[in-house]
Amino acid sequence: MTRPVHTLPKAHLHLHFTGSMRLATLEEMAASHGVRLPRALIENWPPDLGDAEVRGWFRFQRLYDAARACVRGEADMRRIVDEAAADDAAEGSGWLELQVDPTSYAPFVGGLTPALEIVLDEARAAGERHGIGVGIVVAASRTRHPLDARTLARLAAHHAGDGPGQVVGFGLSNDERRGDTADFAHAFRIAANAGLASVPHGGELLGAGHVEQVLDELHPDRIGHGVRSVENPAVLEHVVANDVTLEVCPGSNVALGVYHAPGEVPLRTLADAGARIALGADDPLLFGSRLADQYEIARTAHGFDDEALAGLARGSIEGSRAPESVRQRLLAGVDRWLETPEASDGTEVTEGRAATGAREGSAVEPAAR
Ligand SMILES: [Zn+2]
Repeated sequence: MTRPVHTLPKAHLHLHFTGSMRLATLEEMAASHGVRLPRALIENWPPDLGDAEVRGWFRFQRLYDAARACVRGEADMRRIVDEAAADDAAEGSGWLELQVDPTSYAPFVGGLTPALEIVLDEARAAGERHGIGVGIVVAASRTRHPLDARTLARLAAHHAGDGPGQVVGFGLSNDERRGDTADFAHAFRIAANAGLASVPHGGELLGAGHVEQVLDELHPDRIGHGVRSVENPAVLEHVVANDVTLEVCPGSNVALGVYHAPGEVPLRTLADAGARIALGADDPLLFGSRLADQYEIARTAHGFDDEALAGLARGSIEGSRAPESVRQRLLAGVDRWLETPEASDGTEVTEGRAATGAREGSAVEPAAR
């Protein structure tokens, strides 16, 4: 006796640009550019990244780079944003914060600025087409020089806003074991001064000590993953006391071998400690699961009932940078979802009701500066 998770209004705060791609789209792009994709990526999809933590990450990085090499210009970039918005909206997401490092795409479109402008323009347009608000998180990489992160932070600051088609946050991604977190503090100050949310990755490949470092140095509003804060109760307390939202991506954690099974992801521990959680898909292209699947994991592997799932959805909305009117609309949609009668199985809800749910979750707002 459960309600379908794809009609539960929610926000999606952890989705990477290339990683959001549909496999079929990647294959089409590769064919059109004459690029041969690694067999490991396309045969027996989703790829087996291995269960050892280190091997998992390096395999992941190699395949991610191969996918990124197929994105070669404005049309490809616009298609990725469009499909990410469409796929998210179809799963009840009313607000998407798509994370992009424009560096790799810049050479094909004449520089960093046009690369970001294309993404922002399409975010606004695709959001309107699909009935979802799409904000952008600009992410720097730990594998590059910290001065490069400052350049991206200045670019992000220039496009800062709180509506669809604007930059709403600044992130730091790639291998947590690379670079010194403190070296990126200056970039995060630039972003924070422009009003951007601070949303670095942390505490996935590394443990609670890394979460503490990220808290101290980057003053995050949210942490990408942060699940391993459970390894030190004091750090988890610090996360909760600082009102930091954790972008928890169970499918990603298991695919990368951080945990061996969905039930091992410490979702319950985090929730019981009072942490605000926003479930995310991270990279569906490589992990094989999308946003609604993460809510299914919470239900099936962790026993979250509909009230608890609604709590997760509220966490995603409250942790987002969606405009206030969108937040209120989505939160009201969550309440209505709980008021609808339970389906006897997940498939009994009519298309009509599913469509209404999606509309309740939609969140198109005029772009505002
Ligand atoms: Zn991520």
